[in-house]
Amino acid sequence: MQIKILGTESLGVRGLSCSLELKNRKILIDPGLALGWSRGGLLPHPFQVVIGTRIKDKIIEELYNATDVIFSHFHGDHCPLAHPNPYQLGIHEVKNSLSTCRIWARGPDKSSPLQQKRRTELSDLPGVDLQNAEGKKEGPLEFSVPVPHGRQTGKENMVMMSKISEKGEIFVHASDIQLLDRKTIKIILDWKPDVVLVSGPPLYRFSSPSFHSLREQSLQNAMELCRKVGTVIIDHHLLRSGDGINWLQMLKNACGNKIFCAADFMKREAIFPEAWRNELYQWLPVEEGWHQEYKEGKVDTEEYRIRGWQALIDHGKINLCKWYYSCPIKEFTDAGKLERDWIEQYCLVSNKNCVRYHLEEDGEYHPDNMLPDGEIREELQ
Ligand code: SF4
Repeated sequence: MQIKILGTESLGVRGLSCSLELKNRKILIDPGLALGWSRGGLLPHPFQVVIGTRIKDKIIEELYNATDVIFSHFHGDHCPLAHPNPYQLGIHEVKNSLSTCRIWARGPDKSSPLQQKRRTELSDLPGVDLQNAEGKKEGPLEFSVPVPHGRQTGKENMVMMSKISEKGEIFVHASDIQLLDRKTIKIILDWKPDVVLVSGPPLYRFSSPSFHSLREQSLQNAMELCRKVGTVIIDHHLLRSGDGINWLQMLKNACGNKIFCAADFMKREAIFPEAWRNELYQWLPVEEGWHQEYKEGKVDTEEYRIRGWQALIDHGKINLCKWYYSCPIKEFTDAGKLERDWIEQYCLVSNKNCVRYHLEEDGEYHPDNMLPDGEIREELQ
């Protein structure tokens, strides 16, 4: 199966959306995103909005030909919303796609009134058949019973995990469990997965010493997953702070090549604009009133796009592809002959899925007008 992680913290947004291509099905899990409304009193930086908009467009594109959509729960970073804020995915943007696929969702029980409302708003869409999937199996799909969103505290905050199998390969999506509940980890291990995509602990909320035992518990659970599963991708809540980024690095050092963030798994550089929000505001100050004007459609993010990427380069936050300064793709972009998206998705984040990169490494001929995905753009010269 082909696993593509679309949006999560190491790719620049809140969420844990992914797409899985099987022989006869294309499954999207948790198509939704958010940017974190306020951190330290600051709204999302416009550069964060640049990244979020690109990921939102990608989720919409991936939904066009999906056969199945899974909703692990109905928090605003995991599903389209009837009343999105300016940085989230709206139901109106994807309702046609949702009406043509099977939808597997967590049931309404043990959910907050807000999550129940969002669920109803989706299920009321014309043509949408939203099934309660908890505990069910269908073909390559299997769903867990409700498990805690993080700690086993309130009964209103539960999520559903998914297992997707094809040709002996097993993928598990474990959104928002935060590696905090022992029984939930056991359910994952009983599924005997090859690849697990899971949210890590929210260390940005665990700074007080009173959270020491939770930090310890999540670490033990992560180590156990790593001992027993071939590939463990930990992202989401964990990577909203420098503390979380360091925690993951420590785990990688201890466990070797088995632990990734989503960006590692997608073979590109990670970016953490939410964790870097304070710095982004220092590097690129934002005029008062910008967010209201953006909401009203009076300003866009273009001014922050090039400057934002340049700020990440200048401050050593990302490593460029080693061929960047000699690559014709940079030249074409600088000359305005090629859309900037190519360098932002490949060159600036050292994306090792670049076809040109591998041909360059192998010393094989490739024309200047070959794009990073291997397409030849005839008019480029
Ligand atoms: S096009 Fe590929 S090889 Fe060229 S700089 Fe970009 S990522 Fe590197």
